[in-house]
Amino acid sequence: MSIAIVAITRKGVKLGRQLNGFLPASHLYLPAKFASGQIPGEHSFQHPVKEVVGKAFLEYESLVLIMAAGIAVRSIATKLRSKHQDPAVVVLDEAGKFAVSLLSGHRGGANALATTVAFHIGAQPVVTTASEVSGTIAVDLLGREFGWELESEANVTKVSAAMVNGDNVGLYQDAGERHWWTGPLPENIGKFSSLEDLGDSACPAALIITDRLLGQEHQALLDRAVRYHPKSLVIGIGCNRGVTCSKIEETVTQVLLEHGLSAKSIRNIATIDLKRDEQGLLEFARKHNLSIEFFESKALRQKECPSEPSDAALKAVGTTGVCEPAALLSSGATDLVVPKTKRGDVTIAIARVHFGEAASRGKLFLVGIGPGDPGQMTFKAREVLLLSDVVVGYKTYVEQIKQFLSQKEIVSGGMGGEVERMKRAISLAEEGKTVAVVCGGDAGIYGMAGLVGEIVHEQGCSTSFDMEVIPGVLSLAAVAALLGAPLTHDFASISLSDYLTPWTEIARRLELAAQGDFVLVIYNPKSKQRPHQLAAAMEIVLRYRPASTLVGIVNNAYRQGQKITLTDLEHMLNFDIDMSTTIIIGNSTTFTFGRWMVTPRGYGAKYNLGSEI
Ligand code: SAH
Repeated sequence: MSIAIVAITRKGVKLGRQLNGFLPASHLYLPAKFASGQIPGEHSFQHPVKEVVGKAFLEYESLVLIMAAGIAVRSIATKLRSKHQDPAVVVLDEAGKFAVSLLSGHRGGANALATTVAFHIGAQPVVTTASEVSGTIAVDLLGREFGWELESEANVTKVSAAMVNGDNVGLYQDAGERHWWTGPLPENIGKFSSLEDLGDSACPAALIITDRLLGQEHQALLDRAVRYHPKSLVIGIGCNRGVTCSKIEETVTQVLLEHGLSAKSIRNIATIDLKRDEQGLLEFARKHNLSIEFFESKALRQKECPSEPSDAALKAVGTTGVCEPAALLSSGATDLVVPKTKRGDVTIAIARVHFGEAASRGKLFLVGIGPGDPGQMTFKAREVLLLSDVVVGYKTYVEQIKQFLSQKEIVSGGMGGEVERMKRAISLAEEGKTVAVVCGGDAGIYGMAGLVGEIVHEQGCSTSFDMEVIPGVLSLAAVAALLGAPLTHDFASISLSDYLTPWTEIARRLELAAQGDFVLVIYNPKSKQRPHQLAAAMEIVLRYRPASTLVGIVNNAYRQGQKITLTDLEHMLNFDIDMSTTIIIGNSTTFTFGRWMVTPRGYGAKYNLGSEI
């Protein structure tokens, strides 16, 4: 890539020299008065800067203009043609603080150049193209780093607009690199597993990544889609001596067409090493800018292939087949998309490259989604949900976050099905999927993280997938926040559910915590099957605390039906309490004012809190 760096001030020239050193293939243009002899890569000028920049605009692929943006704009204004032709223009202030991508951000590469320049001199890159700013996919650039080609430019503008405006964009991929996007996909992108589903969807725009040519039956979809052809096909070729380039070309074109495959998706050719000097083949490769991978006959002979072995080939070149084993070896595929097809002097077979799916390791996230309101869910939890292929959870939790789950596979069910659900989540992760197990509050607090740990431990501790717990706002924090500050000192959290823990154990812990003057957080206080535990718990606490001890009761914190009640131990049973309730029982120092319940940390004993500053 040729780059012209133009500087006009003494400081700018210093910066320009630095950059000239970092950027290979760059030339520095500087005013003659700052030039110091003949330095390679430097050109001095005496003409007005506008002329110098104008000329460079037409001669170079990229410009780095170290000057005020105004001067840069005036210098190039009359030269502008179109985004398909104009060079990348980056403007840099002479102090090297900002590298502004001014022109041809995407296609011309100015965004990338601004980032590179900024990196070298410690500047801030300034990029204003919408897709970068809003973190959406740059439709015209997708997959470019892997060599993907657009089927046509036709709908790029339309789909880009949908992308930037946040309209629903459907995505379908059946070939090519899978990891073309790092992190979660933008929220307006929905994945589809078939073209039919995508076509039937209401998505006004679509991205299709395929090595196939799509026919008339998809026309309605193609009218609103941008198609990318990844480099995913390997053409295995066998041929007789002296075959012409045009014969190979004709065969390859015909066979691709017959099988509905795109020539833009050819990654390379593969053949036997005896063909290193086969002129027609070399010419074909050169003409289409394709590399050829050559294999020795021994390697080809050892590869098992679907077609009948050829004795003639064995006699002539020492292997029973060329095109099929060459395509398979070069692509790493286990089967062929097109088996051996003979057309006169040329035989070809086609295989599809596998992009390391086998190596993709499953992941099991245990995600705390908070008390219920999406506003109380962490950014990280959202990100993980977007990343996941499958979401597993108790149906109430899945329902709470349904706006984040479009296009996800869902495994949900009722209470009591946890063990089955977690085993299913584990087996999905073993298959290589990214699985999010969702839990209310935090997944590690009376949640599924422990159960998954137990299952994995029972099954021998070795997993073929990775596990990660994503913390969430636990109910006790949500409930405490709604009550004020009841947990500012030591507290004990106790679940009254005796489904998995014997009541004697629960009673013992209640007794010890009450005795220790801990604030008590009571989870799972009461259910239809367990109506009596709460009264028993209250009796235990009353042995150590007066009936006037403050109690906060919160039902459905941060979700529909939220109710906050402040009362005392004596009256707490008079209120609605069920499995959506968390209770906080104060300690001997907990007090209340207005709607607040406060357990003091102890500042009042040390400081005069009433005096003015
Ligand atoms: N993992 C959760 C707890 C699950 S146990 C957490 O981190 O908080 C289920 C109990 O949590 C319920 O019986 C209730 O006591 C409490 N709980 C869950 N969500 C709640 C909410 N929104 N408001 C009040 N209590 C809640």
